[in-house]
Amino acid sequence: MLTANASVLPLLQLRGVGRRYDTGGGTVHALQGIDIDVLPGEMLAIMGASGSGKSTLMNVLGCLDVPDSGSYRVAGQATSELGPDELAALRRERFGFIFQRYHLLAHQDAMANVEMPAIYAGLGGAQRRSRATALLQRLGLGERSTHKPNALSGGQQQRVSIARALMNGGEIILADEPTGALDSASGREMMAVLHELHDRGHTVILVTHDAQVAAHAPRVVELSDGRVLRDTGWPADAPRATFSAPAAPATGLWPGLRRRLAQFTDALQMAVDSLRGHRLRSALSMLGISIGIAAVVSIVTLSDAVRVVVDNKLRGMMSNRVILFRGHPNMPPGMVAHPFSPADVAALRGIDGVRDVSADLESDVAARHGNRAGQMSLFGVRPGEVERMGLKLTDGRLLTELDASHQAQFALLDVKARDRLFAPGVPALGQTILLGPLPFTVVGLVKTDGAVGVGDWRDRVFIPVDTFTLKMSGRRDVEKLNLYMREGVDPQPLRAQATQVLKVLHGQEDFNFFSLDDEFKKVEGVTLMLKLVLSAIAGISLLVGGVGVMNIMLVAVSERTPEIGIRMAVGARQGDVQMQFLIEAVVLCAAGGLVGVAISWLAATAVNAAQHDLHMVVSWAALSVAFAVSSAIGIVFGFMPARQASHLSPVRALARE
Ligand code: ADP
Ligand code: MG
Repeated sequence: MLTANASVLPLLQLRGVGRRYDTGGGTVHALQGIDIDVLPGEMLAIMGASGSGKSTLMNVLGCLDVPDSGSYRVAGQATSELGPDELAALRRERFGFIFQRYHLLAHQDAMANVEMPAIYAGLGGAQRRSRATALLQRLGLGERSTHKPNALSGGQQQRVSIARALMNGGEIILADEPTGALDSASGREMMAVLHELHDRGHTVILVTHDAQVAAHAPRVVELSDGRVLRDTGWPADAPRATFSAPAAPATGLWPGLRRRLAQFTDALQMAVDSLRGHRLRSALSMLGISIGIAAVVSIVTLSDAVRVVVDNKLRGMMSNRVILFRGHPNMPPGMVAHPFSPADVAALRGIDGVRDVSADLESDVAARHGNRAGQMSLFGVRPGEVERMGLKLTDGRLLTELDASHQAQFALLDVKARDRLFAPGVPALGQTILLGPLPFTVVGLVKTDGAVGVGDWRDRVFIPVDTFTLKMSGRRDVEKLNLYMREGVDPQPLRAQATQVLKVLHGQEDFNFFSLDDEFKKVEGVTLMLKLVLSAIAGISLLVGGVGVMNIMLVAVSERTPEIGIRMAVGARQGDVQMQFLIEAVVLCAAGGLVGVAISWLAATAVNAAQHDLHMVVSWAALSVAFAVSSAIGIVFGFMPARQASHLSPVRALARE
């Protein structure tokens, strides 16, 4: 124990401190020329009538506010030289605030309220909990640690706020009208606690307008109109205990990270609470994000699905094949296109990179079955050629060598041809149809194997090649050639070469290539349109959603200004506050994104059920894109509100209730 000693350095020193408020009606001098020294371990009451400047002085003492004139030193350090974060550190490390209206965070329980200052100090989770538990027990609230403030009496809430003030040490306890809102019994209890703290070495400064309350303190400073009217000074015989600070949290990289993590968890919790607290509002502002993310995910999903189709089906079916057609779209009128001749085939076979050339035998034919009839494309095919054309058997059998050598009158029908000649439900296999004048037996049914087949738009009938050439008289011209390329040959120069060769033989360009590229372009053209539409939806909804999120965050910042004030009072840095609101914005957006992913998953499922060409899978890649995009939106649109929150002045924020 110490006694009053002139050689002890003041813990707090005010010299000529002034603070004025510029209001519409003129300037209010709330403090003028205040000189006060407070030694460590003193307990003093600042007394005065309402409006005399007590709260203003308290805010200056607690580094929540800065004086306009004069100097204020804490443990020798001039506060005017400190930035916002250094002042926050001072509040965190030295001060503990007890407010008239408790200023607890309403949605957090007693325990969390008490722990909060230690999060900003960087105390580990286990230490934090054990210290908060001990403090709550010491203040008789051991059983109440999971109660939210509104489930506690005024006296209990005030004791929670005392525990919070002591969480980081609370070397200097600042209590502004601590008994003001309490009944007399709780008020007496409160004063007893302050005395106990003083006995333990805390420097206690209490503000009151009540002379009886002030009389509890050994030293009384009386204010009037912002000036010190009377200062009793510290009585020579009054004891001052030495304060022993609790173990400071470790510093360094790992504790720094741990602090960030604790803050992150805290902010996450806050974010989820505030989302829950404002369900409709959150849902509405999330809507734009959800739609936007659904569009983004659908773009990725669609691209994946199309790529799979193009890679697996089309490319597989068409690979290493170039198809030549008789005729050219740009032929001048009057020019007659030559059919392909055996000489053409021989010449094309001579091109480097060409493995084989086969003539496709194809003609139009009138087909009939009973009273159903139609004009169809008739193909003379070699065994195996139907598969090479990208078709697969769905029923019956394919054509064989034997069918060809016997010039059998057997036919395969594709889906369209079957539907044209047979009513739904009528079996086609084994039935006899007429192709031109000749009867054929349907032995098999085929279907395009893949998304988009070449020639899907026609009704197609396939018969053995020899049956075609020998029995279907008249139409022997070769209309179409298949060039099979060697493995790894680039089709582009090969086509150029084939064009040159044929131009010489035909004397004109009366032929045309069926190009796989064209077919790709058709598919890609459609999906590109879809993607553009989806991108536009994504862009607009994300923008609208982002602005919605920004708006909601601005509302949140303004609604929760007192909370921000409390956090700053217990020592939150500007960056801490900014991080908290950024995390909230990101959580809001990510939640919206999650809903968006769900929407796109439902859409993909519906699309898959409706057709079988494209298989839409919402992949992990799409999920990551959704998460990345929604987080980015949260950061971009949350930045301004978060910055606004972090730049609030602690005293202004606290004053707003
Ligand atoms: P007390 O706590 O003793 O009642 P305050 O410190 O709250 O006194 O106020 C001192 C004077 O400063 C009063 O005249 C009050 O009206 C004025 N004042 C306090 N805060 C503000 C403010 N934010 N803006 C304008 N005037 C203020
Ligand atoms: Mg006041």
